[in-house]
Amino acid sequence: MGRLICISNRIPLGPNPTGGLVVALADVLERTGGIWIGSAAETVENPSDTFTEIEGGKFRRLSFDLSPEDKDNYYAGYANSVLWPLFHDRTDLMEIRGEYYDAYRSVNRRLAKMLHGILRPDDRLWVHDFHLMPLAHELRLLGAKNAIGFFLHTPFPTHLAMQAMPYGAEMCKWLMRYDLVGLQVERDVVHARVGLTLLGGAEEGEGDTLRLGKESTRVVAFPIGIDAADFAKLAAEQFEMLPQGIVKPTRQMMIGVDRLDYSKGLPQRFRAFGTFLERHEDWHRHVSLLQISPPTREGVKAYDDIRDELEHLAGRINGRFADITWAPIRYIHRPIPRETLAGLYRAAHVALVTPLMDGMNLVAKEFIAAQNPDDPGVLILSRFAGAAEQMTEALMVNPHDDEQIAATMLTALTMPRSERSRRYEALMEGLLREDVHWWSERFLAALDEAALASV
Ligand code: ADP
Repeated sequence: MGRLICISNRIPLGPNPTGGLVVALADVLERTGGIWIGSAAETVENPSDTFTEIEGGKFRRLSFDLSPEDKDNYYAGYANSVLWPLFHDRTDLMEIRGEYYDAYRSVNRRLAKMLHGILRPDDRLWVHDFHLMPLAHELRLLGAKNAIGFFLHTPFPTHLAMQAMPYGAEMCKWLMRYDLVGLQVERDVVHARVGLTLLGGAEEGEGDTLRLGKESTRVVAFPIGIDAADFAKLAAEQFEMLPQGIVKPTRQMMIGVDRLDYSKGLPQRFRAFGTFLERHEDWHRHVSLLQISPPTREGVKAYDDIRDELEHLAGRINGRFADITWAPIRYIHRPIPRETLAGLYRAAHVALVTPLMDGMNLVAKEFIAAQNPDDPGVLILSRFAGAAEQMTEALMVNPHDDEQIAATMLTALTMPRSERSRRYEALMEGLLREDVHWWSERFLAALDEAALASV
């Protein structure tokens, strides 16, 4: 069997947030003498045209250089200020600039050239995420015939949103050069099929295949999972290590854990909690919300704005309802070690996972995996998280609807143990069955199949 080569914008170094991914792929990478390729942590003035070997680890890792301009225009620019908002239904936040697109194309072209230099004919390539969509196209131009698969970790945009994308029709052509396009959930497959046919001129082929001229690709949903068994064990251990007093016998804790991103529905969540407190005075002092939101993509204006808005809202709600023994919202604007998070999930009675749009949302899965099976907490989940397609026993909400979220908070806080257990057991069974190993094995099996079919 040929080597597996994974390519992503970042090389997984630490355990988070791509921890599960690495665990799932480490085995095959090791077994096939595979390689993980990603950009170097630090920028350099004159990017090299060869890879740098990163020492240590169980499988080979190679990094490619980015210049400070690449970082501004390809990464902060096209990836985070055009594609991210567009793929999360926020075309209003896009910043379209010619230099962003040019840098995106040239970084992908340079990477393809470097990759082509080390490719063996039987290598299989797995390209991750929106930063690298044109990679197969560039590799094919150089003559690569390898099996190449792509997985999009975000939602797939609607065909309307795609029309707001600079060179939206090109994106269709890029994707058609892969043997397999993996998406998170069926919602995304529907959007992709419509977009690729309507805008890209592709035609429906057999089953999940699309055709464009001589090209054919399969478009399939592979919902990403977590290592649920491992996370459950970690949470049980870490819960015992939490400082005393985090959970008070007379108080329930609701928890939110999200990067501070406008797609996560954080202001809506805070407002809904305000509405809940306004309606239910009997719950004052008996419930609090712990929101953990580390900074991300600082310096991009939309992120600075959401930070200001959230601080303002937390201040207003606490100012209005707090007393000397209780603050309704504890808002932590900092990363927290994965272990501590696992313990906190277990300590919480309710999780609020209410994104306006999300590819999957792993926090929803981690929260459930972390629960005490004898006395589990309740998950409130946005219908716009990819996770909603699998986690149907969660309490589903429309994240735009204050009143509905507030009413669901009451349902969650007062849910009898028998119902909590029933929901938890069904959710946990799904997480254990469809975990991150299931995800990577299915993707790689489909890639092999698709590559064989296209020979
Ligand atoms: P996204 O990929 O958009 O950030 P996900 O929910 O899919 O959303 O994944 C987020 C990951 O980051 C989870 O594994 C979660 O545990 C981790 N994470 C989120 N907030 C924090 C935090 N404050 N500190 C450390 N890890 C965090």
